[in-house]
Amino acid sequence: MKKILISACLAGDKVRYDGRQVPLTNALLSQWDGKGLLVKVCPEVSGGLKIPRLEAQIVGGNGWDVLKGAARVIDIQGHDVTSFFIRGAEYALSIAGRFGIDVAVLKEKSPSCGVHHIYDGQFASRRIPGCGVTTAVLKQNGIKVFSENELDQAALYL
Ligand code: SF4
Repeated sequence: MKKILISACLAGDKVRYDGRQVPLTNALLSQWDGKGLLVKVCPEVSGGLKIPRLEAQIVGGNGWDVLKGAARVIDIQGHDVTSFFIRGAEYALSIAGRFGIDVAVLKEKSPSCGVHHIYDGQFASRRIPGCGVTTAVLKQNGIKVFSENELDQAALYL
């Protein structure tokens, strides 16, 4: 079976901006893990951000807009952290290439890893449709990206 790129926080690593993990308990995921198929990546940490770090959101659009230069990733104190997010997304893509990966399972709502939803850039817990920066880069390069709620669909491509 092919390997699967997975958000490191879903796989139990304490890499979130607040230093927490959000481990996913799921039989399919445990099966993949047991077979050594999971390749963990945290784009934000790989892009150079620390743990913990300030919460950040995409302002002015979604991950695709960030790649076009039409939106930015801004932290809650107003610092522009876009370059870290792009660097992390490119790192995730390089890892996928190294392992011949074409399926990823990423954490919904993150400005990096969100697949179908992200926050609206106002830091008010409002979700909007759209993906994060890493999801956009992976999709742009032909990788199928699923959220943690879509493991069954991801399994169809392994
Ligand atoms: Fe998890 Fe992705 Fe955020 Fe890293 S960047 S903490 S892997 S959601």
